[in-house]
Amino acid sequence: MFKVHVVGAGLAGSEVAWQLAKRKIRVVIHEMKKIRKSPVHVSDDFAELVCSNSLKSIELKNAEGLLKEEMILWDSLILKCAYESRVPAGKALAVDRNGFSKCVTEKLLATSFVDVKWEEVQSPDVDDGDIVVIATGPTTDGKLAEWIKSVTSGFFNFFDAIAPIIDANSIDMDICFVGDRYGVGSGDYINCPMSRDEYERFWNELVNAQVIEMEEFDRKMLFERCQPIEEIARSGKDAMRYGPLRPVGLINPHTGKEPYAVIQLRKENIEGSMYNIVGFQTRLKWGEQKRIIQLIPGLQNAQILRYGVMHRNSYIDSPRVLDEFLRLKTMPNVFFAGQITGVEGYVESAMTGMYVGINISRMLSGKPMITFPKDTMCGALVHYITSASELKPMYANFGLLAGRKDREKTAMRSIETMKRFFEEVELND
Ligand SMILES: Cc1cc2nc3c(=O)[nH]c(=O)nc-3n(C[C@H](O)[C@H](O)[C@H](O)COP(=O)(O)OP(=O)(O)OC[C@H]3O[C@@H](n4cnc5c(N)ncnc54)[C@H](O)[C@@H]3O)c2cc1C
Repeated sequence: MFKVHVVGAGLAGSEVAWQLAKRKIRVVIHEMKKIRKSPVHVSDDFAELVCSNSLKSIELKNAEGLLKEEMILWDSLILKCAYESRVPAGKALAVDRNGFSKCVTEKLLATSFVDVKWEEVQSPDVDDGDIVVIATGPTTDGKLAEWIKSVTSGFFNFFDAIAPIIDANSIDMDICFVGDRYGVGSGDYINCPMSRDEYERFWNELVNAQVIEMEEFDRKMLFERCQPIEEIARSGKDAMRYGPLRPVGLINPHTGKEPYAVIQLRKENIEGSMYNIVGFQTRLKWGEQKRIIQLIPGLQNAQILRYGVMHRNSYIDSPRVLDEFLRLKTMPNVFFAGQITGVEGYVESAMTGMYVGINISRMLSGKPMITFPKDTMCGALVHYITSASELKPMYANFGLLAGRKDREKTAMRSIETMKRFFEEVELND
């Protein structure tokens, strides 16, 4: 009888193990905490929340709330324990972090289908036909990171900066224009033209805006790759105009002229519902980010779907190396789950674990594997991380769903779709 080995008992690994154990499939959890802890973990319990104790909103009109509602249908362990250890926090699902981790640990260990091996896995045994799930999170390092690089053809990104992503519906196309530099391309860019006055005001506000101070943990990783836009701005008034904001080769059809500077927006997904601001990696505080972005001509009403951030976050190039079930294309007995797949956030990480757990149990029971419908938040996120042309860590947001103008209606539709899908899958079993 094949076993399933889950490497890492974080948010994702715990959820994988739960979904398997409740379907009576034996799981061995391999967790290193009692031997060595990552720089962000402190306790020996499973599913440790490394930073905030909030699992974000529970409101259905909020993408995070919708994600949770969908996961509750599938009996998510992370959400079950979050509600059991909830502390008052308005419309957010905040938890007592120790109580939460204890709940997850106890519920897993209470089933007779879960064994735990306290060890640091350096190179999982993938040759004996057993199934392996790598759920070691954004701080994966050492020999295991080397092994992951070797099985993903070297695609193991060390991500230190991310540019904000905005909702396409909130871009003012009376001011902006579609166009590629020198007309070469297929219209994937939207350009926000700036006059000299607008550029100078923007520069002045940017160099004086408040940034998030980085802890020592992050600081040593900063500036290895992309420079934050505010650092470029600080190096001189014209630096951005000769860097990411250069206007050359871009004629504004509204005026027939080349602007003084241009901020380019690039399609983030195939559907064109989300755009990222090119070269705008930043560590501005989120309130400041919104204020500064709304100074850009054409983005005065910009809806920010995902703020720019800078922190350590290792993840694989899922669209190239994983199939739609989050299995390695080259080694179908190896699955990935959690933040390492390119989702971002506690609940998002747990969701991928839930998805992988459900599918492994189906595979081992001889049933067809499933993909969540793409018009659900769970399905849209999995679809994004396995199909994005250039994967950026992604949390739940309405930009991932089509027809998302009325968020409440979209959410109601998604939850109905997931309910129907859940019933079809469970009743046919
Ligand atoms: C500094 C930081 C702060 C964050 N803050 C937030 C936040 O406030 N809110 C939010 O929603 N998200 C936050 N995140 C993002 C993300 O949601 C969390 O990192 C989340 O815990 C990811 O879940 P996971 O299961 O993928 O990984 P983790 O929860 O990190 O779990 C991975 C597990 O694998 C184990 N492990 C690692 N390597 C090995 C090995 N070789 N052998 C055996 N075991 C191993 C680890 O000990 C750990 O228990 C933060 C991330 C970081 C890095």
